Amino acid sequence: RCATGEEVIAFALEHNVKLVNLKFCDLLGTWQHFTIGIDLLTPESFSEGIGFDGSSIRGWQGIQESDMLVMPDPYTAFIDPFIAEPTLSLICSIYDPITLQTYPKDPRSIALRAEAYLKSTGIADTAYFGPEAEFFILDSVRYDNQANFAYYEVDSIEGIWNSGKEEGQNFGYKIRHKEGYFPVPPADTLQDLRDQMVLTLESMGVKVERQHHEVATAGQAEIDILYNTLLHIGDDMMMYKYVIKNTAKKYGKTVTFMPKPIFGDNGSGMHTHQSLWKEGKPLFAGNRYAGLSELALYYIGGIIKHASALTAITNPTTNSFKRLVPGFEAPVNLAYSARNRSAAIRIPTYSANPKTKRIEFRTPDPSANPYLACAAMLMAGIDGIQNRIDPGEPMEKNIYELPPEELKNIPKVPDSLGGAIEALEKDHEFLMKGDVFTKEAIDTLLSLRKKDYDMLRIRPHPLEFYMYFDI
Ligand code: GLN
Ligand code: MG
Ligand code: MG
Ligand code: MG
Repeated sequence: RCATGEEVIAFALEHNVKLVNLKFCDLLGTWQHFTIGIDLLTPESFSEGIGFDGSSIRGWQGIQESDMLVMPDPYTAFIDPFIAEPTLSLICSIYDPITLQTYPKDPRSIALRAEAYLKSTGIADTAYFGPEAEFFILDSVRYDNQANFAYYEVDSIEGIWNSGKEEGQNFGYKIRHKEGYFPVPPADTLQDLRDQMVLTLESMGVKVERQHHEVATAGQAEIDILYNTLLHIGDDMMMYKYVIKNTAKKYGKTVTFMPKPIFGDNGSGMHTHQSLWKEGKPLFAGNRYAGLSELALYYIGGIIKHASALTAITNPTTNSFKRLVPGFEAPVNLAYSARNRSAAIRIPTYSANPKTKRIEFRTPDPSANPYLACAAMLMAGIDGIQNRIDPGEPMEKNIYELPPEELKNIPKVPDSLGGAIEALEKDHEFLMKGDVFTKEAIDTLLSLRKKDYDMLRIRPHPLEFYMYFDI
């Protein structure tokens, strides 16, 4: 990894690069890019930025104030393996050319400001995040046929068998329903493809911890990258999605990070491990519940208190809430526990080493913008520490099997994007400390979410014909 502009330019010359691809993340979490010649990249480009027109980027500037700067970060330099000409790639933050301040609605700048705010509180100097994203690898996506998934009760062996027969597939070595975690080949047909994804990530400087098939039968995968600091885990996750989609495409497959593509089977989560550190010491290790510190318990208190509002950022699509239902290893109840994977927050207990002490928030999904999701979770945790928010008692029972009278006392995630929007409308002060999320950024996020919610809400759904056509 490079540390300075000079190092990046030397690295580019070493690789005979002629072109520089500048990438940045829009508010919804998608990379945008443009290319310049290598001659135009100077050491000053890394402090003065490079101009572009930001007027047509979703959720950004109006046409009247559209001149913006991209500010490349030397640490993010890599040779882009998916562009034919040798090309240097740089991830950029967005700056205002007049004030030379970070742009309030640039997700990468929001992550930067969250890191700065954490330091300014004196609570900790570093926050680490380790997202475990899941996704589906499909042969092709037939959008015209997606509605069939909604009708189809894929909850019996017969159901699976018949659905495949209709498509005339070969049923030898097929993974059984909910048994994708994790038989060897030939049942696992995606090992080689996942390996290619991992090796490409590693070649670009993103370290991978493990890869495996996931529970869902239709080619669900999980690839876990090594934890990193807030800003750089955002960068790593953007590189991750880019590599995974492009590698799939190269081998004739399609990947989707939508949280619940198939009714009746597991959805895709992005469980996020997190911890705070100060002067090289882990602040989450202590002698309280599950080896946590009091500070870690307050952090959990903050996440639980703000969880409903957080879902508008960590679970930002209408589809996100189709994953957050009982029975598919996705959390519904806002409780914490050391063992229990039905709780929204789990405290991993694999190791007694204080350096590994962390919490795992299981609600987020991979449709979230990783910069915004991690910044928002950190702000909720900081609020918990500042206000000494008690997370309540841990939940040791399987929540899916709790009797109704016990269940009714446990807070739940919203059941739709509409509920998440309402929660964020009421509860966003904690995000605005230190100008991490500005009011303008929150309002824009809310209006983008409302637009999606209404798009779906005003359309007759295919399932409604099944339920109501003959009413
Ligand atoms: N796919 C599950 C989810 O939606 C998680 C499964 C697992 O990793 N145990 O969160
Ligand atoms: Mg995992
Ligand atoms: Mg998993
Ligand atoms: Mg996990």
